[in-house]
Amino acid sequence: MKRAIGIDLGTTNSCVAFFDKDELVVIPNKEGSRTTPSVVAMKDGSPLVGNIARRQAGTNPENTVFAIKRLMGVSFESEEAQEHARSVAYHLVRADNGDAWVELGGEKLSPPEISAMILRELKASAEDYLGEEVTEAVITVPAYFNDAQRAATKAAGKIAGIEVKRIINEPTAAALAYGAEKEGERKLVAVYDLGGGTFDITILEVLGGVCTVLSTAGDTHLGGEDIDRAIMSELSRRFEEKHGISLLDDRTARQRLKEQAEQAKHELSSAIETDVTLPFIAMDASGPKHLEEKFTRIELEALVSSTVEATLGPVKQALADAELKASDIDEILLVGGQTRMPLVQRIVEEFFGKKPNRSFNPDEVVAMGAALQASALSGQNDDILLLDVTPLSLGVETGGGIFTPLIKRNTTIPTRATEIFTTSVDNQTFVPIHVLQGEREMAEDNETLARFELTDIPPAPRGVPAIEVAFEIDADGIVHVSARDLGTGREQSVRVVASSGLSEEQIERIVEDAERLRESDAMRRELAELKNQATALIYSSERAIEAAEGLIDEEISRKVAGDIENLRDLLETGDAIDLREALQLLEESAYQMAEVIYGKENEA
Ligand code: AMP
Repeated sequence: MKRAIGIDLGTTNSCVAFFDKDELVVIPNKEGSRTTPSVVAMKDGSPLVGNIARRQAGTNPENTVFAIKRLMGVSFESEEAQEHARSVAYHLVRADNGDAWVELGGEKLSPPEISAMILRELKASAEDYLGEEVTEAVITVPAYFNDAQRAATKAAGKIAGIEVKRIINEPTAAALAYGAEKEGERKLVAVYDLGGGTFDITILEVLGGVCTVLSTAGDTHLGGEDIDRAIMSELSRRFEEKHGISLLDDRTARQRLKEQAEQAKHELSSAIETDVTLPFIAMDASGPKHLEEKFTRIELEALVSSTVEATLGPVKQALADAELKASDIDEILLVGGQTRMPLVQRIVEEFFGKKPNRSFNPDEVVAMGAALQASALSGQNDDILLLDVTPLSLGVETGGGIFTPLIKRNTTIPTRATEIFTTSVDNQTFVPIHVLQGEREMAEDNETLARFELTDIPPAPRGVPAIEVAFEIDADGIVHVSARDLGTGREQSVRVVASSGLSEEQIERIVEDAERLRESDAMRRELAELKNQATALIYSSERAIEAAEGLIDEEISRKVAGDIENLRDLLETGDAIDLREALQLLEESAYQMAEVIYGKENEA
């Protein structure tokens, strides 16, 4: 049976897992690490992914893409994209459809294409590990991802050659992994997920392998990076106080400070004090300046306690939405690297009045849950049923620019709602419909998913035509719309142009391009390998001729020398066919020479 894997496609790190005979296994990458940095780079025309990409970032910043997840399904003009553009060294460009794309190695690439490079790497790790082709996966997304962001994630999977069996929410995946261990007991679980850039809280009911999401809330601009920034400002303030130089104005100094700030933060999760040293960080007339500071956990906690406490706002909202009190929660699960910080654990514990469950690795639990769901969907494990909810209300714009929700947030998906539309003037032949997602009262404050027109309405007095439009959210959280003219019973065609994201045709084209490139990549690799072989054979044959001097006929050594020259000539410009042929000729004559030499030796 085909195995399906679970993938946590993270902002900073990604992780892949699978379910094998009652056991959840995290798959290590080629370097043996259980998580892979979500970093993609282009260097000398070759794509690099993961650790190797991250390591070369310092010397190749403009062609190293970090945190692509933040650009998934996001328009170029959006606040998110603009803010992202200011914080990264690579360039964002506006695509024809208005999306934010990325310039990498001189090419313009969509975020799903970049994510696909990460997914391909994870797929390859899984294939290496399992010794079989892997084509199916469940991929996780933040609970707060909207329709366009989910669709973009699905597109990334398709581009990477993966059939995405389901998109599930990260906190749901975590609870699923947890739920699998607690068969039979009904538990109310809170998943507190504080990652590098986002915070999510989800309340679920777990009962013998069945997870039902009760509510979810979060903040897409709150995470570990805010803590890093606070540490950076503090260190920079201390440095400026001593030396009168601001480190934040200089790009290189800033980058070094950022890395040190994060490292200090990590160290202070286990140590209570650390030394931050940045030699030669700045320069003035009196010479080079070094940053050397002692930084303690107490200082760090004083600096960022309000940031961590800010997570409690969404926590309270999620509890209120689920009509629960903090004390009703049986189990608190921590997800995301930032929950390793003792202050985070303390604030969570104080709020809920009980210790969070730390039996899972916060970096791996999401991929594990995804693997569990993948095994269920591919029929290897039928104990698990996952009920997810839509994180945002779905609705339409009605008179006066008001947003009228048809499917309220926190409704279990898949779900469907219908609405009857009619005309507002006599003989009106079309009705425009504006589909939105969000929680604000006015349409303009929410996210447009699509605009379309119901057309070909037969002439009739106003208010008479009745067209039923069905809005569906599928199990991946992606919206589909269909319409029916109740008068004629005819299906109305609805052309939904997603406000953001890649069209089906674009995805197909990218997949085809990738296929084509795969072939040309394979050819390039073959040529390179042939050249390596040729160079090695030329070298050893030349040594052999020298060694065989006096032992072989002129004729044989001339033949070998001729074949060497022939092969050498092709090294620069030859194609694979010519090279292979010349290589074979030299191989034959070199063997002939060897036979004579060894024949002679045996005679002697
Ligand atoms: P994630 O997005 O879940 O991979 O979380 C990444 C965030 O967790 C980054 O901001 C990291 O700096 C942070 N992080 C990872 N390990 C630790 C640690 N030991 N202590 C504090 N923060 C950490």
